[in-house]
Amino acid sequence: MNRIAVLGATGSIGTSCLDVIAHHADRLQAVALSANGRWQDLAVQAQQFRPRWCIISNPELAGAVDRGAFPRETELLFGADGLEFVASHPDVDSVVCGIVGAAGLRSAWAATEAGKRVAIANKETLVVAGPLVMSLAARTGATLIPVDSEHSAVYQSLLAGRGEDVRRVILTASGGPFRGWSRERLKDVTVAQALAHPTWTMGRKITIDSATLMNKALELIEARWLFGLTREQLAVVVHPQSVIHSLVEYVDGSVVCQLSPPDMKLPIQYALSWPERWEGVSPRMNWQEAAKLEFFPPDTDAFPALELGFEVAGRGGTCGAVLNAANEVAVERFLAGSLSFLDIPAACRQILNAHTFEPQPTLTDLLRQDAWARQEMMQWKV
Ligand code: NAD
Ligand code: MG
Repeated sequence: MNRIAVLGATGSIGTSCLDVIAHHADRLQAVALSANGRWQDLAVQAQQFRPRWCIISNPELAGAVDRGAFPRETELLFGADGLEFVASHPDVDSVVCGIVGAAGLRSAWAATEAGKRVAIANKETLVVAGPLVMSLAARTGATLIPVDSEHSAVYQSLLAGRGEDVRRVILTASGGPFRGWSRERLKDVTVAQALAHPTWTMGRKITIDSATLMNKALELIEARWLFGLTREQLAVVVHPQSVIHSLVEYVDGSVVCQLSPPDMKLPIQYALSWPERWEGVSPRMNWQEAAKLEFFPPDTDAFPALELGFEVAGRGGTCGAVLNAANEVAVERFLAGSLSFLDIPAACRQILNAHTFEPQPTLTDLLRQDAWARQEMMQWKV
């Protein structure tokens, strides 16, 4: 039995993960579930999965939560300490990092430090602290398996050859709701338009990131650290069908890729079943139907976030922490109506350029730069 802590259980990744666990009740068991605010949803999940622990990470809710809504045998924990407690507990085998934003870093760190299998959906952890997390995993023997569909595809495609024979890794991008739009047309994008993703249903933050292509920028940085690549080994191709989830090109010209209908349950399950493969809950490819797979070069003029991703993947150091924090606040401001769509990458660019670069930061340095970038973005004016 694989005993799993699902962090961010009430989110898009979290609920898909619980579908996978319910489907494989003979080998997967949810022993800890966390939510930040929506404790009522967490209580409903707890009634179904009967976990040993539930964590409500927002400590201010301690007084508001109805204990009686949770099963009697479930212990309730509050605050970020509760997340770290379960992520490193000896009775937990695997940790699914489904929290959104840099808020997921500490618990992902605790799970890595404790040598767990870490199913990492929270890409921000690797964007902020990729080199530190990877060297921590190497020390503790933690197994970091990506849940992000592109990185899961790369992980699988890398099994076809040797690391030194990889020419490059090509991440696919759906292009988001504004594929084909000019910069001019993007000026007046509304929140509702940006939240309408054509192929994926996801949380609000990553949906906005997908519309600006900042999501692909973050994924370039994630891939750089996860797979030990250089900037020159990274590329992006727009693939509107979201069926090929990414590609690995080898030195002999062979390109190996992974494809499946767009559904996060597959990469989530793979991160838990690896190195095995199990009968899945996700839809399968239908080879009886005619289908078309298209590829386009990305429009870097309309979507300048991409260039930020390549640059930060190349520079490393404190750049990831600053770009990520600036973007998190920019997305909040866009959703709140105090920043326009095109301001998101523009403001991130300015704050990245203005920061004091450190090439070999410690975790403390990174958290300080994260706080600085958030402050700058809160005050940012056109
Ligand atoms: P979501 O907004 O749907 O869910 C986020 C979860 O995190 C919720 O359970 C919420 O309660 C919790 N949370 C929010 N703020 C928190 C905080 N400050 N502290 C602790 N917990 C907090 O997000 P999502 O779409 O499921 O994305 C989660 C992560 O997975 C993100 O890093 C995202 O980039 C990544 N990811 C998501 C998808 C997807 O299909 N949704 C695909 C690839 C990668
Ligand atoms: Mg992705």
